[in-house]
Amino acid sequence: MGWVTEYHPTTDELNACVQCGLCLPACPTYRLTGRETASPRGRIQAMKAVHNGILEVDGPFQGVIDFCLGCRACEPVCPGMVPYGRALEGARAEIAAQRPGFGHRARSFLLGRVIGSRGSLRAGSGALRAAQATRATALAPSRFRRLAAGVRPLGGRPRATVGHIGGGGESGKVALLAGCIQDEWFRPVNHAAIALLEMAGYRVEVPIGQTCCGALAAHDGKADAARALADRNVPVFMGYEQVVVTSAGCSAHVREYRHWSPAGEQIGERAVDVTVAVARAIETGLLPRLTARSGPMAIQDPCHLRHAQRVTAEPRSILEAGGFEVVEIDPAGMCCGAAGLYTVLQPMASAELGNRKAAQIRSTGVTRVASANPGCEMQLRSALGAGYEIAHPIEWYLKAVMEADESGRVAAVRTAR
Ligand code: SF4
Ligand code: SF4
Repeated sequence: MGWVTEYHPTTDELNACVQCGLCLPACPTYRLTGRETASPRGRIQAMKAVHNGILEVDGPFQGVIDFCLGCRACEPVCPGMVPYGRALEGARAEIAAQRPGFGHRARSFLLGRVIGSRGSLRAGSGALRAAQATRATALAPSRFRRLAAGVRPLGGRPRATVGHIGGGGESGKVALLAGCIQDEWFRPVNHAAIALLEMAGYRVEVPIGQTCCGALAAHDGKADAARALADRNVPVFMGYEQVVVTSAGCSAHVREYRHWSPAGEQIGERAVDVTVAVARAIETGLLPRLTARSGPMAIQDPCHLRHAQRVTAEPRSILEAGGFEVVEIDPAGMCCGAAGLYTVLQPMASAELGNRKAAQIRSTGVTRVASANPGCEMQLRSALGAGYEIAHPIEWYLKAVMEADESGRVAAVRTAR
């Protein structure tokens, strides 16, 4: 039958692979198993076989594709510049269309309708908050228990950010994409972004009418849902020159909105990850560099920042400006195993990768960790257990700035600029 949707991997995408194998050592699932079918090259060959009518979109094909993390560590090392992430999303859209079981239908509802509705998200978060308060999360099935263990305590959160308008505007105007789960479970990150951008002199608007960016839906093959969500966001953000996104997975997706909405390219060109926006503000003197020492900080690179956007210097420069001594944990930048719904759908491989990452962090002896992606943060919290503090680099920086400000040092730094 071959492909049946418009999202399928294209001839150009697949033919870009010259089968050199340079991507194999970078691929976490290949490193875990040593199997060619668990490598980028093997997966592209499987997609090509379907494309050429040799294979069907059947169970074995789905197994090969489902085991992929979508971490895109294969992209930066690829001499053929294979757009692997795009091809993977296309292959997953085909699986969702051709093998629509209960799981796919349930996830389609969850990733399209539920997280696209602020009311549903609020209700879900209320239930999770109650479960946290009564420790009922410990009774969840094991694959969900690991996920639940990584969620920040939801009690006492600040107000939702959508609808916020503030800041002087002498440095310009930016919009903030609040996200779905990001603004429910990681709201302090959005508040830190607003505080820092306003401190830098920006007028910050979090426009009403925005919704989930669609990244989770796209990564899971729910392409129609991803397109519908992008179509809702594009007109909301069209009036802004810069759209700041506070989750690495979301910023990577919005920057590729050209695949998802007719006018998406214009939004994609204006979208920046918050680490890039804050690092620029520090670089241009709009935000301070502290002279105070804030101690060691382990840093974890989310795949959708490091591999999909090639952003590695900015989170480090933010932490250094906050006076932190950055401690590297993994120069190779292997995936932590979070990868959207991978924690739930491939629990064993996810746990193995999470435990490896936790061991790397433990070996440094540092108990404070910076991670710029909510999924990675949850995975690390779950794998590390008690005794570790994990937050976004901009949260660590804001905390250091506020503490320095209390002792008058920020004022001194700003005066000296
Ligand atoms: S590095 Fe690129 S071209 Fe080489 S095998 Fe991997 S995907 Fe194909
Ligand atoms: S996206 Fe990650 S897991 Fe999937 S093939 Fe590429 S490197 Fe391997």
